[in-house]
Amino acid sequence: MKIIAVVNLVLLLVLAAAGFGYWKSERGSEVLKGKDWTAKKYGSVYVVSINTQAELVGALNDFAKTAGVTLGSVGGIGAVNEATLRFFDPQTKNYVDKTFNGQMEITNLTGNISTKDGQLYTHYHITLGNDNYNALAGHLLDARINGAGEFFVRAVKGGHLERTFDPEIGLNFYDFEK
Ligand code: FE
Repeated sequence: MKIIAVVNLVLLLVLAAAGFGYWKSERGSEVLKGKDWTAKKYGSVYVVSINTQAELVGALNDFAKTAGVTLGSVGGIGAVNEATLRFFDPQTKNYVDKTFNGQMEITNLTGNISTKDGQLYTHYHITLGNDNYNALAGHLLDARINGAGEFFVRAVKGGHLERTFDPEIGLNFYDFEK
C-alpha cells in the first residue's frame, strides 16, 4: 500500500510539473519594453508590438539590440503613413530612395538580422497597400507606424553570422567563413 501511495504522489508531481510547464510556455516570458515597442518571448519567438507614430526600422533595431538577437528572421504586418523605400541598381551601384506619404497597410514586412563587424545589421523589405488597393514594394529604409505594428522575430539562440562588403557588387553579403 505504501508503494502505491508513493507512486501516486510521484505521478501527481509529474502531472503538476507538466501542467506548470504548459502554463508557462503558453504565457511566455516577462514583458520587455523599449521607448517605442513592447515585446514578449514565446519559446524562441518574440512577438513585438511597435507604438503608433514610432519609426519602424529604428524601433525594430532597438528591440533586436535590447533583446540581444544577433541572428534571426522578422515578419509582420501593420499600417504606416509614411515610408521611404530604396532601389539598388546593380549596373550603376546607385541607390535611388523615394518617400511615399499617405495611409498604407503593411501587407508584409520580411527581414533578417545578422551582424557586420560585430554590430547589429538588419535588412528589411516591405510591401505596402494604398487606398487604391495597389501595392508598393521595396527595400525599407524607414517608415512611420500609423495604427498597429505587429511583428514576429524568430531568434536563433547564440546565432553568429557576419556580413562582408563585396566591392565588386556593392553589397554586404553573408560570410559563413567569419
Ligand atoms: Fe534589400
